[in-house]
Amino acid sequence: MFETLSDRLTSVFSSLRAKGRLSDADIDATCREIRIALLEADVALPVVRAFVAHVKERARGSEVSQALNPAQQVVKIVNDELVEILGGETRRLRLAKTPPTIIMLAGLQGAGKTTLAGKLARWLREQGHAPMLVAADLQRPNAVQQLAVVGERAEVAVFAPEPGNGVGDPVDVARRSIDHAKRQQHDVVIIDTAGRLGIDQELMRQAADIRDAVQPDEILFVVDAMIGQDAVTTAQAFMEGVGFDGVVLTKLDGDARGGAALSVRHITGKPIMFASTGEKLGDFDAFHPDRMASRILDMGDVLTLIEQAQKTFDEEQAKKMAGKLTSGDGFTLDDFLEQMAMVQKMGPIKNLLGMMPGMGQMRDQLNQIDDRDLDRIAAIIRSMTPGERAEPKIINGSRRARIARGSGVSVTEVSSLVTRFFDAQKMMKRMAGGLGIPGMPGGGG
Ligand code: GDP
Repeated sequence: MFETLSDRLTSVFSSLRAKGRLSDADIDATCREIRIALLEADVALPVVRAFVAHVKERARGSEVSQALNPAQQVVKIVNDELVEILGGETRRLRLAKTPPTIIMLAGLQGAGKTTLAGKLARWLREQGHAPMLVAADLQRPNAVQQLAVVGERAEVAVFAPEPGNGVGDPVDVARRSIDHAKRQQHDVVIIDTAGRLGIDQELMRQAADIRDAVQPDEILFVVDAMIGQDAVTTAQAFMEGVGFDGVVLTKLDGDARGGAALSVRHITGKPIMFASTGEKLGDFDAFHPDRMASRILDMGDVLTLIEQAQKTFDEEQAKKMAGKLTSGDGFTLDDFLEQMAMVQKMGPIKNLLGMMPGMGQMRDQLNQIDDRDLDRIAAIIRSMTPGERAEPKIINGSRRARIARGSGVSVTEVSSLVTRFFDAQKMMKRMAGGLGIPGMPGGGG
């Protein structure tokens, strides 16, 4: 997600970095580039206008002209504005004071509602809740069955109308589900409603009826990020027809541009609360505007990386890894090897590496990474002496040749591993000094 925008912005900033002071003309040119980058990323025009106007106003102000490093200050401004446009603070789910908390999902057919219902349920279960899914999509053939399957996978209860009772009334099902949840002590109820292929009155009316019958604590509008500008139109229609409290973006894995994510908050005034990034139940997380901005600007998403590590390992292991990752100092090839083994447990390596700062520029290489490559890397490191692993600087030409022979790879592969290791070490040091932007508060200089 966001590759197009990320690449564009990174290149705008790298040309800025060559300059010392920034003239008004430099700022105008940069803002023009940012505008093009946003438009190419399919961001809605009113959002682009507002965004660029803010950046320009701030960039012409004293915070840039008086900065030690004006170019980096511009990056900081763009980062701030991205966080802002994405919603500022992370908006957490509001739980009802007296359970059950009722969450209603609305959106077009195919948006990914049913899948999302399962993801959300599993996510809540992992946090100690006892969620129940409700099949109130009685329109689409198989929708009830699909939710039952999803519920089973997520290991949560599903409330569905008895089979054979005709089509049934979704409003009635929703209403009865709440009583059932209370009796069964479910503290969160997630209601999956019917979607249509397009926006229509009947769809809106039914969703509004369910809303009135169950009075949800949260209505989440689920929207497919890949439909681009249509996401904004659909959001507006649902806003008027049903109303909602938050947005869930799905299929962010498939959209290189990410325009929907950047537009929907500004246009509807409602926060993006969750993001779905794949078909599996685990491809889902709360949406954090700051982390997303940092990913777009290729500053990495180390917090998410650390959270994933915490989910996979015990606390001791996770702490050790987080410490090494953020300090950069004392990080040796042995640690690298150990971490690689740990990391492989966390999922496909390219997803994880993609969260490291600066990796955006290496996307093509990342996409070529096959997890089997890790075995080759491990073989290379194992062919090194303990001294070499601890102090890779000593690995000169003849040592490289020996290591290559020992591990059955070419000398070039050994060299490239060593270079990449140094790069990683450097990046970690940079991150340790703040957001990876020297010159920022808390930055490295
Ligand atoms: P619904 O009609 O809104 O309930 O949509 P479904 O949950 O049935 O999803 C429609 C299709 O989108 C299914 O094939 C899902 O596997 C797929 N899907 C859902 N969420 C995601 C996602 O985040 N990424 C990708 N790539 N596919 C998704």
